[in-house]
Amino acid sequence: MSAHEENRLREQISTLGKSLFDRGLTMGSSGNISVRLDDGGWMMTPTNACLGRLDPARISRLDGQGQWLDGDKPTKEQFLHMAMYAERPQSGAIVHLHSTHSVAVSCLPGIDHCDCIPPLTAYYVMRVGKLPLVPYHVPGDPKLGDAVRGLAGQHSAVLLANHGPVVAGKDLEAAVYATEELEETAKLFLLLRGENPRALNEEQVAELKRRFPA
Ligand SMILES: [Zn+2]
Repeated sequence: MSAHEENRLREQISTLGKSLFDRGLTMGSSGNISVRLDDGGWMMTPTNACLGRLDPARISRLDGQGQWLDGDKPTKEQFLHMAMYAERPQSGAIVHLHSTHSVAVSCLPGIDHCDCIPPLTAYYVMRVGKLPLVPYHVPGDPKLGDAVRGLAGQHSAVLLANHGPVVAGKDLEAAVYATEELEETAKLFLLLRGENPRALNEEQVAELKRRFPA
């Protein structure tokens, strides 16, 4: 990877991290971002780092086995990212947030564990698709990684119960856009609870999949 490309990615992670933080999509030192590098390794936001104040020079770099190479120590939620990448060679970046409305949906009784949010809008269908719920595990439990791995082949986004979403994209911009789409649709879903909203029907969802394949 050229020094120019490496610097571009470090700046992009910091800029988009600040953008997510400034808009209240993540709080405190929660949330983490990773990008797959063309040398087979990764860049990842550091442990206990606030996404609103990332130092591009201190972003963690990992080798192809996920071992920490340099920068600050990577996020303790690294294993969530690695579980997703292991099943998704087509994904170049992952965003994990504790974003309020998505977490709220993950705590609701009676949601469909295979598909937590109905297809309310076309962009939700195109950017997120079917969103499965991953059962609650204590933070850091390797079984949580196993549960994510079991779903990641079929889903670019999963929702961790009582925790938050993990969203993959072909590149960082796509992963951020999909995360934002998920959070906004979670907000719509909560706004519309009890209103029996008209979601897209199966035919409309199938047409989107045909016209805009992932
Ligand atoms: Zn988390």
